[in-house]
Amino acid sequence: MTTARLLFDLQELDHRLSEASSRVSVIDESLGNREALKPREEEVGASREGLRSLEREQRNLEMTAESAREKTVAVESKLYGGSVVNPREIQDLDHEMTNLKKSLQKLDERMLELLMNLEQTQEELQDGEAHLKQEEEAWSQNQERMAQEKIQLQSELENLADQRQGIAKGLGQQELQLYERIRGSKGGQAVARVERGLCRSCGVTLPTHQLQRARAGRESVLCDSCGRILYVG
Ligand SMILES: [Zn+2]
Repeated sequence: MTTARLLFDLQELDHRLSEASSRVSVIDESLGNREALKPREEEVGASREGLRSLEREQRNLEMTAESAREKTVAVESKLYGGSVVNPREIQDLDHEMTNLKKSLQKLDERMLELLMNLEQTQEELQDGEAHLKQEEEAWSQNQERMAQEKIQLQSELENLADQRQGIAKGLGQQELQLYERIRGSKGGQAVARVERGLCRSCGVTLPTHQLQRARAGRESVLCDSCGRILYVG
């Protein structure tokens, strides 16, 4: 096998190694990351808070209404119990009674409105919780899939690294250094395939003598135009 072919195979492996390790990095960032669930969690949190506040308001209204009813009973018993005979006092009590009834009516109206709000908020909360549950399940399944994929990728990476070592053994130190140097400066691609006399990396037509040297594969021949190692496959 020619040096250029070995370097070309090495490059294929390096591409696969870099793809697999990038995928592992993506997975590592996603594992345990609950960011995607946050909007729904916040929505549910807001509904819960809204519901608690409406329930507090409901209790307050109930207490206010209860005390207004107790007052009404007290005023009624004074008014109709016969103990109060002074007309002025009766008039005051009558007035107080009217006011109490008015405020009880207002309290009833507010309570009705509150109950409607409560019902709506409870529905929103139930919907939100159901959606959150679905999203959490999908998230967990996805986490599980990614964890499995990572295990596979890790074994693939080990396998690729072994293959790479096998190929590297067939290459000299100088060739490997040249490959690494060009790879570092040419966006990860050190070897260019030659097809129909053209360098496929830069598209330039190679001079005949260069093509012949590259085809012989006894030494590393670089493309004059893009500087990559030529491989005639
Ligand atoms: Zn080229």
